[in-house]
Amino acid sequence: MAIQSNFSPGGKKPDLEINKPETSRKFWQNPWFIFALYLVMLYVFLFAWPEQGQKTEEIPYNRFLAELEQGKIRSVVIYDKKYIRGEYKEEGPGGKPKTFVTVPLDDLSLAEKFKQHGVDVKVRKGDNWLALFFMNWVLPIALITLFWIWISRRMGGAGKGFLNLGPGKVHIHPDTGPKVTFDDVAGVDEAKQELQEVIEFLKDPERIQSLGGRMPKGVLLVGPPGTGKTLLGKAVSGEAGVPFFYISGSEFIEMFVGVGAARVRDLFDQARKNAPCIIFIDELDAVGRSRGIAPGGGGNEEREQTLNQLLVEMDGFDPSIGVVVMAATNRPELLDKALLRAGRFDRQIVVDKPDLEERVAILKIHVRRLKLGDDVDLEVIAQRTPGMVGADLANICNEAAIIAVRNRHTAVQMSDFEAAIDRVLTGPEKKHRALGPEEKRRVAFHESGHTLVAETVPTAEPVHKVSIIPRGVAALGYTLQLPVKEKFLSTEEELRDQLAILLGGRVAEELVFGVVSSGAANDLERATEIARNMVTQLGMSSRLGPLTWGRIHRALYLETEATEERNYSEKIAEQIDAEVKALVEEAHRRAREILERRRKTLDALAQRLEEKEVVSGEEVKAVIREVEGEAA
Ligand code: ADP
Ligand code: ZN
Ligand code: MG
Repeated sequence: MAIQSNFSPGGKKPDLEINKPETSRKFWQNPWFIFALYLVMLYVFLFAWPEQGQKTEEIPYNRFLAELEQGKIRSVVIYDKKYIRGEYKEEGPGGKPKTFVTVPLDDLSLAEKFKQHGVDVKVRKGDNWLALFFMNWVLPIALITLFWIWISRRMGGAGKGFLNLGPGKVHIHPDTGPKVTFDDVAGVDEAKQELQEVIEFLKDPERIQSLGGRMPKGVLLVGPPGTGKTLLGKAVSGEAGVPFFYISGSEFIEMFVGVGAARVRDLFDQARKNAPCIIFIDELDAVGRSRGIAPGGGGNEEREQTLNQLLVEMDGFDPSIGVVVMAATNRPELLDKALLRAGRFDRQIVVDKPDLEERVAILKIHVRRLKLGDDVDLEVIAQRTPGMVGADLANICNEAAIIAVRNRHTAVQMSDFEAAIDRVLTGPEKKHRALGPEEKRRVAFHESGHTLVAETVPTAEPVHKVSIIPRGVAALGYTLQLPVKEKFLSTEEELRDQLAILLGGRVAEELVFGVVSSGAANDLERATEIARNMVTQLGMSSRLGPLTWGRIHRALYLETEATEERNYSEKIAEQIDAEVKALVEEAHRRAREILERRRKTLDALAQRLEEKEVVSGEEVKAVIREVEGEAA
């Protein structure tokens, strides 16, 4: 049971890589070929080679003794008493002494006999040490390596580049692919404007240079996931008509130290050959994380080497050849400062979440390929999706089309979009998880409580829709408020109203059932968070004054947990807690006052909700008018 007035879903990351067929590599450059060749050579060198040119004859032991007696043998090597290898005095056809091998008995008189006939004797411990070396070291290592390769290949993706240092790993976005232009990117006008300069430069590097214009080298796109950073990179390449070399930062980080650095070198080499062109490094933070920060340890040395190589390459190339390095990240605060220095990614472009108008523009792009019903109003869809990014909106359009097909509509209708938004907002409808009648009544009152408080307090946004259809994990029902205009600031009054709305659900349960349920847990959490923020960060408590308490560390563009660094005394901490409590209690009191006063309306609203499960904003107003007359 939650109010969803500003929802910020994480961006989806569609795979945009276009695999270029392996560039023309000679077969002898293939690492597998080299590896096999190495094994063959090792074998030849260790076993086959020493035997060549001389046939070693295997002779019975008694013949060996006889020939020893006859004085035919010049020298022997005794291998650990397992066998004897020796040379005759007589020479073979090649002019070399003939050799033999025999397996001896345990014969103590043998030494005496060798001495008698003047035979050179060497005793070797073990077999051929080279063979031993091969068996004990080379072979196992080779097997383990092979096994490892096999495993890493099976793990897919990352393993694909194993030993594969060549340029085949770099994805080239060929011009034959669907051409992306600025027309395909909406709502990022500022970014487009700044990138215009880059496009001009790529179209004619010499001209810009002769005019003495500044040559862009590194452009960093910064913003939350799914806002169209990758898309912008492609659009720049499309607008300028130059090739696009795409690589994702995580691809640099492989299992071998040094591979990442080699890949960076390859990337820049290729780019130089294909200039003018764009190098696009996605997820730059994967390599560019500031040195010294060790997130979860491991892989650091590799990352640092890669990063260093990247810095070297960026310093080393002359921008006048027409290579522009673009990169994207949603964690700019993590980047190594060296990357942002002059001559590297010194130009930063923020790609932010779209506002209302921008969302309409993005929707227009994504409904281009849909057949729309007459009732579809993109304006309303945009109003219902505050906080959503381009990727989410693209997703909604897709979902809507799928839902329309399922409903056998001949065109995508507004109801399909509504369903798609609900799905993307809160996860697919749970058809199977029906509420029991008692539960349903409770949820109906809870949501009606939120709704009625929202309709009463002065600053709240109008309720767009109330629903008690269970969705996803967290929400049993929800009350959706629709911001009339895009909002970037909240006043203290608005925040206080917001608190009252959040508590409305719980208060309704208290009034009607006497006891509360676990359904309000999420509301209380959010209320407490808002109240705490008001006291510690926004200076909205008269007792603690207009100061901030505690230093908040949070990612700039991601909705991850923020961590608080405490920089105040125990005494202040107590006061903060007291103030937070007072704020929430005040909100509770207000909500209670409102709902007690409008109890009849609450009952009517809850009943309507129980019957229909989903009630629109207009219907809510109609119910209020019915019960309270035109005075309301
Ligand atoms: P990012 O790289 O910022 O995470 P992407 O560029 O990968 O985001 O965006 C993913 C998809 O979302 C795009 O392919 C596009 O379909 C859609 N999209 C995102 N932003 C926009 C936008 N501003 N205009 C149109 N489509 C967008
Ligand atoms: Zn609630
Ligand atoms: Mg991206």
